[in-house]
Amino acid sequence: MSKLTDDIAASVQRILDTIPPDVILVAAAKTRTPQEVEAVIQAGITHIGENYVQEARNIIAVVGNKATWHMIGHLQRNKVSRAVRLFDMIETLDSIELAGTINQHCAAIGKTMSVLIEINSGREPNKTGALPEDVDELVAAVAGLDHIQVQGVMTMGPRFGNPEDARPYFRATREVFERLSCLSYPNVAMHYLSMGMSNSYHIAIEEGANVVRLGTALFGSRPA
Ligand SMILES: *Cc1c(COP(=O)(O)O)cnc(C)c1O
Repeated sequence: MSKLTDDIAASVQRILDTIPPDVILVAAAKTRTPQEVEAVIQAGITHIGENYVQEARNIIAVVGNKATWHMIGHLQRNKVSRAVRLFDMIETLDSIELAGTINQHCAAIGKTMSVLIEINSGREPNKTGALPEDVDELVAAVAGLDHIQVQGVMTMGPRFGNPEDARPYFRATREVFERLSCLSYPNVAMHYLSMGMSNSYHIAIEEGANVVRLGTALFGSRPA
């Protein structure tokens, strides 16, 4: 094994050993090579997150269906047709218009897409995601779309040097998740709470995350 593969395997092992077994570890693979993605899969990762449709396509062409593929970047509507073929879950649904487009393209290929509702928990103007007060209306609309299954919520949250500062945003997102869990809509079943990245996943798990998305902690720092 190469040094790269050894380092990645050690990082994956260390993190898998420290998170609860029911927490899904998604390897956030933006800018990584197929070899790096292969290395995390060899080390025991089964979920891979990609931010860009074209990059996902290149990686999936090499790595194939040895993993469950999560779209974790903002999805442009003109990329939906390709995205619904490539991904098993779209974590970044944040508008009724995008939901309509996903539903239409999934209907055309006879697929039902698992989605998470992305919440802009920090109300950051430069970030995507639905505002917390718009989430109920969005979920009610998506419930009427037969080719989409809403399975939870996702948030990025503001990034802080001290991850403890992210806790209130994770907590607020969990509260939305719990509120939505009490609703009974068709095509909606709240299973996944996706929050926490390399510097904040411990806090996110304490606040109820059962999906964490890690890049640098697994692969090392990204080239600038
Ligand atoms: C890059 C990325 C991550 C992982 O970030 P790290 O700080 O490298 O762990 C998680 N989620 C999303 C949506 C990302 O784009």
